[in-house]
Amino acid sequence: MKKSLIWQLIAAFVLAIVTGIIFGDKMEVVQPLGDLFLRLIKFIITPLVLATLVVGVASTSDVKKLGRLGGKTVIFYLVTSMLAITLGIVAGKLFSPGSGIDISLEGKEAPEPTETDGVIQTILNIVPTNPFEALASGNILQIIFFALLIGIAITLVGEKAQPVQRFFDGLAEVMYKITGMVMAIVPIGVFGLLAPVVGEYGADVLLPLIKLVLAMLAACVIQLAIVYALIVKQFGKMSPIRFFKGIFPATAVSFSTSSSSGTLPVTIKSAQENLGVSKEVSTFVLPLGATINMDGTALYVGLCSMFVAQYFGIDLSISQMATVVLVGTLASIGTAGVPGAGLIMLTMALSAVNLPLQGIALVGGIDRILDMMRTSVNVTGDAAASVVVDATEKRKLEKQKKQKQSA
Ligand code: ASP
Repeated sequence: MKKSLIWQLIAAFVLAIVTGIIFGDKMEVVQPLGDLFLRLIKFIITPLVLATLVVGVASTSDVKKLGRLGGKTVIFYLVTSMLAITLGIVAGKLFSPGSGIDISLEGKEAPEPTETDGVIQTILNIVPTNPFEALASGNILQIIFFALLIGIAITLVGEKAQPVQRFFDGLAEVMYKITGMVMAIVPIGVFGLLAPVVGEYGADVLLPLIKLVLAMLAACVIQLAIVYALIVKQFGKMSPIRFFKGIFPATAVSFSTSSSSGTLPVTIKSAQENLGVSKEVSTFVLPLGATINMDGTALYVGLCSMFVAQYFGIDLSISQMATVVLVGTLASIGTAGVPGAGLIMLTMALSAVNLPLQGIALVGGIDRILDMMRTSVNVTGDAAASVVVDATEKRKLEKQKKQKQSA
């Protein structure tokens, strides 16, 4: 079954590319299939994250352990994001995608620099003033906060809160079941989303920026095949082949939807069933990652800042590059995992180092293509974190067991 899903996904990719090239714009007719799939997975997210996280926390019943999980996850996310953005800058240096390109910016307007909430407000925003509003608007960070508190309170209340725990337990199972049903049409959804994109982008849009696309591709491949492969092997004790095979459904869905949040149900299901990540860890690490961890986007911000600087013939100093790294990493925390979010982060990074915001117009034309690549890296990075955190937790448990036995 799992093997056949991988093959069905590959077939969907090939079919989307071939039909997109042959029929071009006309492939828009299959867009409703993609939209249907997207709506189906999106409607699962809120109840799935709420229920699974409440159950995960309530069954942990150990606040210290939760703190440890949170600490490890956040450190992992910060370190890999910084690595990724540095890789993007290095790729920008090596490939020089912005030098010698012939695209006129005449008539193209620079976007307004994006106002950010600032670090303190971003942190404050995690606390919902109305949890039901958070659920209704699908604000994942706020939902995580709400779920964590319900879970902790359930364990503190004890006996009387049992019905609440059982309710969420049941709801979580129901949501897993629905995810399973929706997974059956993943290949059709991937085809429906991808074919119109392939059909839309002609050579005239892509060719002038081909160096940028290739540099992005190379950097993403390095992040996946070297950085994550090493991390998963070294710290997660898992063979990279098993990792990539297991997470492939999520990678494929993220590639076609360009949304880490939208992919979340598939990421959670693949991590649990194919990579053996515990429910407790996957339901905590992955929703968090879908909102705060975006290695692919960080990489893109690094690379595209270099690209824009090169286009305008500006040399970025080391300290400006360091600013890009810092702003890119921080911006990724406050930005949602939805299509196009990276472009907003790029705007922030460019204005932080005083690069012309008109550069956004250059990248904007092909942003969907870059978005597909970076979102795949974002989601795969989250999954790598879940594997590593899960493995370290399991090792800790083993050690404690052994100590108990010998005592
Ligand atoms: N689309 C990306 C994501 O959902 C965010 C971005 O635009 O970079 O992860």
